[in-house]
Amino acid sequence: MRLIEAVLKNHICPKRLKMVRINSTEGKATPGAVNNIEPNAMKNLTHHKRCPKLEGCSILLACLVLLNLPFPAGAGQWLRGDLHSHSTYSDGDSPPADVVAEAERLGLDFFALTDHDGSMAGVPLHWSDPGYVSDEVVLLYGMEWTTALGHANVWAAAPFDYSPLWAAHKSRDAAAAALAAHDAGALFSINHPQEFLVCPWNYPVPSEADCVEIWNAMYSLPGMNRMAAHMFWDDLLLQGRRITAVGGSDTHHLKKWMSLIYDMAMPTTWVWAQERTAEAILAGIKGGRVTISYASDALRLELAADADADGGFETMMGDAAPESTELSLQLSITETGNEIRGASAPRELGTDELKTLQASGMSFQNAANKNTAAQLSERYLACVYKNGKLYKAWRMNGAGSVEFSAPAREGDYFRAELFGLPRMPLPLRLLYGYMIAITNPVYIGAAEQ
Ligand SMILES: [Zn+2]
Ligand SMILES: [Zn+2]
Repeated sequence: MRLIEAVLKNHICPKRLKMVRINSTEGKATPGAVNNIEPNAMKNLTHHKRCPKLEGCSILLACLVLLNLPFPAGAGQWLRGDLHSHSTYSDGDSPPADVVAEAERLGLDFFALTDHDGSMAGVPLHWSDPGYVSDEVVLLYGMEWTTALGHANVWAAAPFDYSPLWAAHKSRDAAAAALAAHDAGALFSINHPQEFLVCPWNYPVPSEADCVEIWNAMYSLPGMNRMAAHMFWDDLLLQGRRITAVGGSDTHHLKKWMSLIYDMAMPTTWVWAQERTAEAILAGIKGGRVTISYASDALRLELAADADADGGFETMMGDAAPESTELSLQLSITETGNEIRGASAPRELGTDELKTLQASGMSFQNAANKNTAAQLSERYLACVYKNGKLYKAWRMNGAGSVEFSAPAREGDYFRAELFGLPRMPLPLRLLYGYMIAITNPVYIGAAEQ
């Protein structure tokens, strides 16, 4: 039963357990048998609200325990978290204990407090604050490298000597900062790269940079993430860089009116990790096994490919599939909160509709959703991009998946976005816009060195 509880806590994705399901069926284990063992566990599963799919998943795992079957190789889990936030150690309005309590209240799996290094003269005092501890959330040791020419987050699994990064701050040397982060076992992530109002990234992109924060706080305003960060990221991807896109709420306020607009875990960064540990989470981020949703209980979008043509979509975001004249891909939408599964089948947009969307340019978000309110059965628009350009799109009305095939040549990459109406009051929607989720790419061919 401990295994079931682990599943509940860690949100293991049922899709990853396809093999297990087959084994369990052959072994004649039944959900009834699970009930007999631990009725309370079943009751808890039934009442668990965060992921309705967990019930079936946990039954499968219980069957595994009963049959003494091995856990599937390469198993992992989707973990949700926030990689960018501030406390009173820099310009936030709440101490670390309150910030961590909010992360716990939201049910986050991981969290990084990334106070500005300049506020503490380069000494990460917040790491040793007695309030920066949690039994529930995996805490990362983060800092925002905050220079006049650009900001970047660094995250590590354990405290480290920040002084080389501080020296690089004072000499305004982003390449040295990224190198110092790597030397310390930390990741280096360029923050809000083309922010229109303040703090864009004005350095060359260091070759050691691991991530780009393509979604900072509210999607539409004031950051205009679509124009700002996506183009910056797509340019890097088109150059052959395999650099992970992440989100960050950049939350500063848990009090007063600003807290009504900016919210922790908006957006939420989902990481596929082998274990629920800081090391595994950072490895998942580094590997690009990341997808971003506007909130911690919003739909999660995933893109995967069937590189070995065996009918299973084992090549996930961040991974590379070999060249193929007809690569099979799967786009899937998973509910993680209280959304309901789509009742009608996805409808692929025809050539003319796709052209209209492509032609909408800067007003893409509005064009993508202009009939959303009128057609509730088509409340979402799922878009796949090949090498940065819109390639295919489907109207959908909730969780579900579509499969398609595409010619895939060395150097290509596929990524996806999901548009719709976020569940929030209208005034906030104007700021957050229509973006529901964004995936990292599935790459084609070997990475350029
Ligand atoms: Zn910043
Ligand atoms: Zn910040």
